[in-house]
Amino acid sequence: MFAVGHMAIAYLLGKGSSKSLRVKLNIPILLVLSILPDIDIIYDFLTGSEIHRGPTHSIVVATLAFIPIFIIYRKKAIPYFLALISHPLIGDFFIGGKLQLFWPLSTNEYGLHELGSYYIGIFSPVNIALELTLFVIATLVLYKSGDWKVFFTSNKTSLVLIIPIATVLLPSTIGYPFSNSLLLSEPPLALAHLFYLVLFSIAVLKTLTSIYKKRFHSSLKNG
Ligand SMILES: [Zn+2]
Repeated sequence: MFAVGHMAIAYLLGKGSSKSLRVKLNIPILLVLSILPDIDIIYDFLTGSEIHRGPTHSIVVATLAFIPIFIIYRKKAIPYFLALISHPLIGDFFIGGKLQLFWPLSTNEYGLHELGSYYIGIFSPVNIALELTLFVIATLVLYKSGDWKVFFTSNKTSLVLIIPIATVLLPSTIGYPFSNSLLLSEPPLALAHLFYLVLFSIAVLKTLTSIYKKRFHSSLKNG
């Protein structure tokens, strides 16, 4: 799946689970976890290797990484864990297939295709329609719930949004790791990516300016 689909699924899962668990949700952190497995794209880009959909897409690695977080935060950690594992288990398992779900226990690759089902590639019209639908639903919930406001206020945790901006949103809109820019191959999906790109950039810029302003004021006072 593309970043838009991963983020929409994680957001909807996060909203649902946090509501039933009655815990507060940090939307930027939730969204970052949903695309975190795809940082392997950057690793591949920098090293020229091909580990995409390998260890970072393993639910074994995700579970191990979350053990200390569960010990500290208990049920509050559940929505974030769901956001992370929804990436390989829902997004990539059903669309695109072939991921090392159980690395390092097994390097076998899994996906819907391996279960004998029809293979849905990420550029298949079925997936494009699915991701756009998820995007629309997630955006409506984001608006209705007032969660969008988090992107327009200064908040230090919003700086984590630099990760999706740099690793998936900007590269995939431009064209990496695909042969063509999404703007040319799938304009509606590219617009959805741009929507998140703008929203996240606003949040990061708002936070950075307020940090600089505070520094400037305190240096004036102390100097
Ligand atoms: Zn992935």
